[in-house]
Amino acid sequence: MLSFPRFLRNQKSQSQIQRRALGAVVTIAVLFLVNNAFAAESSQSDAKVAIAIHGGAGTILKSSMTPEKEAAYKDKLREAVTHGYSLLKSGAKGEDAVVETIKILELSPLFNAGIGAVYTYEGEHELDASIMHGGSKNAGAVAGIKTIKSPIEAARLVMNDSPHVMLSGKGAEAFAIESGLEQVDNHIFDTEFRKQALDKAKARMAQASAGYGTQQGNERFGTVGAVVLDSEGNIVAGTSTGGMTAKRYGRIGDSPVIGAGTYADNDSCAVSATGHGEFFIRYNVAADICARMKYQGLSLSDAANVVVNDVLVEAKGDGGVIAIDNKGNIAMPFNSKGMYRASIDTAGKVTVAIYQD
Ligand code: ASP
Repeated sequence: MLSFPRFLRNQKSQSQIQRRALGAVVTIAVLFLVNNAFAAESSQSDAKVAIAIHGGAGTILKSSMTPEKEAAYKDKLREAVTHGYSLLKSGAKGEDAVVETIKILELSPLFNAGIGAVYTYEGEHELDASIMHGGSKNAGAVAGIKTIKSPIEAARLVMNDSPHVMLSGKGAEAFAIESGLEQVDNHIFDTEFRKQALDKAKARMAQASAGYGTQQGNERFGTVGAVVLDSEGNIVAGTSTGGMTAKRYGRIGDSPVIGAGTYADNDSCAVSATGHGEFFIRYNVAADICARMKYQGLSLSDAANVVVNDVLVEAKGDGGVIAIDNKGNIAMPFNSKGMYRASIDTAGKVTVAIYQD
């Protein structure tokens, strides 16, 4: 019987070995990929995420609210916070969750940001917004823009696609439009409610020769903001506003000022503020809260409380903040009558509130 020549037998067994080896490599690779896919999925659903939002602080009294109005505010806050939380749960980056959450509030006429923004003395809307990433310490802000539909999107573009931190006025608008953001007429931000607030403020200013931007009752509140802890452990803060009713044109408040109205640092906290902006700028409120955590070792809630309820109260600066740390702890102190606010903590517990309670 013919037997296989030895050298062919060797070749055959070699190619068998090669095939087996290849098969083993493929099997290992498949197992590795499947395993990693499971790991990624479980790290997404297991990762701790949390979010807090505000819709402005000020003289918000239960006595001046109808049940329908209160329900409308609460529903919109719940919608925004739930949307942000589900994005975070599905692994979205913190900056995207902040922007998408704030966009819901900018598009709602209930809040002083985007549609529903307050008027300048001259009867226009000048919008400010900012965002900061606590991991990279990158930040972006726009100030005094009139024709960009979503100021918070413009702020994110400045952060991600420009070498700058803050762009203002026409330069900010040109940059946003070149980058493909939607341009709109300033009047799309109009609402009757804010027009009435402007008329009242102007009448009072004429009588009392009060300064520009002096506020009463519900003439200011409604600025919006969001702070989040994302599934990668980054904390991010964002804020968007129309500013203060009857403000002088060109006035810029704290909301686009990094350190004053918005700040984020993975080593301490992320903060978005609302209130009388001039005080928040002078007292560097958002960064001061983070600094007290970082250098004094205070807890998030102690640091936020000292700044809002001691420092600002002593200075007579009204308003509040939402703040989150890298463990997902949340604090939402305010020294005014109310603050529209909502949060979902790392355990999934939802809070929606307006007054001091
Ligand atoms: N802080 C905003 C500003 O001064 C207004 C507000 O939050 O109500 O522009």
